[in-house]
Amino acid sequence: MTRFRIFDRRGLLLLLSLLLSTGFFGTTMVGYFVSKQAIRAAIVGQDLPLTASNIYSEIQKDLVRPVLISSTMAHDTFLRDWVLKGESNVPEMARYLHEMKERYGAFSSFFVSDKSAIYYTGDGVLKHVSPSEERDAWYYRVRNMKSDYEINVDPDLANADALTIFINYRVFDFSGKYIGATGIGLTVDAVRHLITEYQRRFQRTIYFVDARGQVVLFGNQTGRVPNLRNAAGLGPLVERILRDKAGSYQFMADGDNHILNVNYLPELKWYLFVEQNEEIALAGIRQTLYVNLAISLVVTLVVLLLTHLVLSRYQHRIEEMASTDKLTGLLNRHAFTILIDKLLAEYRRTPQPISMLLVDIDHFKEINDRYGHLVGDRVLRDVAALLRGGLRESDIAVRWGGEEFLLVLSGCDHPEAQRIAENVRGRIAETPFEVAGQPIAVSISIGVSQYDGVELSDQTVGRADTALHAAKKGGRNRVELAESQS
Ligand code: GH3
Ligand code: MG
Ligand code: MG
Repeated sequence: MTRFRIFDRRGLLLLLSLLLSTGFFGTTMVGYFVSKQAIRAAIVGQDLPLTASNIYSEIQKDLVRPVLISSTMAHDTFLRDWVLKGESNVPEMARYLHEMKERYGAFSSFFVSDKSAIYYTGDGVLKHVSPSEERDAWYYRVRNMKSDYEINVDPDLANADALTIFINYRVFDFSGKYIGATGIGLTVDAVRHLITEYQRRFQRTIYFVDARGQVVLFGNQTGRVPNLRNAAGLGPLVERILRDKAGSYQFMADGDNHILNVNYLPELKWYLFVEQNEEIALAGIRQTLYVNLAISLVVTLVVLLLTHLVLSRYQHRIEEMASTDKLTGLLNRHAFTILIDKLLAEYRRTPQPISMLLVDIDHFKEINDRYGHLVGDRVLRDVAALLRGGLRESDIAVRWGGEEFLLVLSGCDHPEAQRIAENVRGRIAETPFEVAGQPIAVSISIGVSQYDGVELSDQTVGRADTALHAAKKGGRNRVELAESQS
């Protein structure tokens, strides 16, 4: 039977999917950005400063002991006596320095005499210092400085120029006269280990930068170029960072956002840089974001699928209820008006003959009167089924009135329609109907008309009705053809 749609499901489903997906997407993304802000705030406000101050205090702690050792050396009676006695026994001094170095696990130990300008180490005389030598500038600085000692980071000449933290302590004789500088040098390995450990634990990049913007010390896996001014993203910030001495910065490098915390360490005259690649910190919530989006997508699809299934079931039922006659299961007149309009529209595109058969059961009132309404209903149902059975899928069968039916046959001209009408009439006349073993004679009369291509559908039906009347008049159980409109 020809089907038709009362309402369109697609619009509803589209609206639903739009609502669900924007709702889910909106809340998921808002959640993500809020978490991202919170994580960024934590990195800037807590994580990086905490790491920096931890490293700073570790370094300060590591420097206390060497300062004490250097102080002990500067006040050592042996050392001062040895200088005052004229620096004559070099092996004695060498043994002393060697002893200090070994005992305290220092990287190097030294004494520079102001009088002779000789630089002694555990191995003896290393060199003579000279004011004109750039590498000796440190000594002349220490010589003139106000404080007792300084911490200086320099390549160590005595150890193949390895980067070394020196404690330079001023030495005075017993009357308070300046006689030279002593102290020990520390390898930066300990600091480097510390940095490496922090980097591993927190996935942060940690390194030290000197006042010229050169990276002086880093853990084992930093990718920083020696001169920070050339570093991608960070380069343009370097001037400001060095001027500010402490602060938080952000920059983009390799497509990732980096958060940077900088602190100036006055003891070392170094800047401590602690850098966090934000993408790494966000990996966790990024993962959650993807999972949430996937869940939202699945939920949306499931809801849409269920809605689609439920809707199509109910739509099917509602359409059936609205368009069919309850007793016979044929289409009702409401459905007919919709379908005939479609059919005529199709006709206008590609004309093909349309015929109408108006069917009326003969003397039906008598059947009702004699056998009762229920039997009448059964006859109506059976006749309807027989009518329906004689049609093609594309034909339309309508319960037109009480015991009247309208059959619309598309692609069927007048003679063909007449043949079909005769067929149907004959079949019903021959089909035995019976009530409680009693045969009932049931016949139909049919008026046949063909759509003329211009008239209204009502007029085609009207002409079939006129023909039906003629059939009734002509004795019933007959087929009459309508005259074509002229
Ligand atoms: P004719 O051969 O001239 O068509 O005679 P008829 O008795 O069939 O015609 P008439 O129009 O006088 O009677 C139709 C009857 O059909 C009257 C009505 O009560 C009955 N009828 C209409 N609808 C139904 C229905 O749904 N069920 C039953 N049982 N009877 C119905
Ligand atoms: Mg009638
Ligand atoms: Mg009748």
